Amino acid sequence: MGRGGRDFGEYDDDAAGALRRFVREAGGCAVVDGGLATELEEHGADLQDELWSARCLVSAPHLIRKVHLDYLDAGANIITSASYQATIQGFQARGLSREQSEALLRRSVHIAQEARAIFADGWSKGPHATRGRSSPRRRPVLVAASVGSYGAYLADGSEYTGDYGRSVTKETLKSFHRRRLQVLADAGPDLIAFETIPNKMEAEAYAELLEENDIRIPAWFSFTSKDGRSAASGDPITECAAVADSCARVAAVGVNCTAPRLVHGLILAIRKVTSKPVAVYPNSGETYVAETKEWVVSEGGASETDFVSCVGKWRQAGAALVGGCCRTNPATVRAISRALHAEAAADDDDYADDVDGFPVMAVL
Ligand SMILES: [Zn+2]
Repeated sequence: MGRGGRDFGEYDDDAAGALRRFVREAGGCAVVDGGLATELEEHGADLQDELWSARCLVSAPHLIRKVHLDYLDAGANIITSASYQATIQGFQARGLSREQSEALLRRSVHIAQEARAIFADGWSKGPHATRGRSSPRRRPVLVAASVGSYGAYLADGSEYTGDYGRSVTKETLKSFHRRRLQVLADAGPDLIAFETIPNKMEAEAYAELLEENDIRIPAWFSFTSKDGRSAASGDPITECAAVADSCARVAAVGVNCTAPRLVHGLILAIRKVTSKPVAVYPNSGETYVAETKEWVVSEGGASETDFVSCVGKWRQAGAALVGGCCRTNPATVRAISRALHAEAAADDDDYADDVDGFPVMAVL
């Protein structure tokens, strides 16, 4: 089990139940961190590379730790490792040995765990200490190991189209991800975050790998959508979420790297097919252009203010974990955290009535 989440990871074939308990401990809705690459660049890292943020695992691990700490300071309950684009195949293509590549994957998880330990230490001694309470309650923090899609490894933008071509089968995806998943799981994260999943086939590959490799760490499946109804490939989001629902090792289902304006409808659609906690961590509303590797403001894109003003609505719709993806930063996460805590204070009574603390609200 992970070292930070109290009792987290010990679950009897009910990963979703374990995550619900954590969400309750976090105040009814957990705060997920924001974009890693954006912040690394902000701190001077050069990410013009196929390895993207994973490049910093080699060149600047201290920057990664700093960004994790910034997100913890901003109120994150879950920090995500810098392994989204870190793959054994990607590192080997750059001349690293298999052993070195696997060590870098482990390092991504360990850096996040170090940041959590530093943060917890500061909390007990320093400015984060809760005043006026006899026993200050630490904010629960989990470390999620990020697993990017096959498209993220290809670095050709295909995680935003879901089109891997006919030659790529579910078996191709399973053999691509198998060893990486095992190495990340062995590094001891509290969660495994399968992110920016662009199609149903990759979700099926992940579900089968979790079973076949007997991965006992709760996972979440997060899809990306461009139209609010389907994953990037065009597979209906309900079918994608149903794959996650049918796998007992999956703790939560959601969407990330999706425009904020699409998120509300996606939460409602996902909740039609699963009662597992729903995670949403949209991007800033800008659009990624694969050809130029740039983000551009899209028509109808939400500003940061709009993004944060949506948080209450997402929670009302049933989101249990809320954070940010690309082009969001610690300021976004701080605003999300404040918005959620304001919501929680406003409807404290509702939560007291919940059977297990998870907001099982009627979807109106
Ligand atoms: Zn993103």
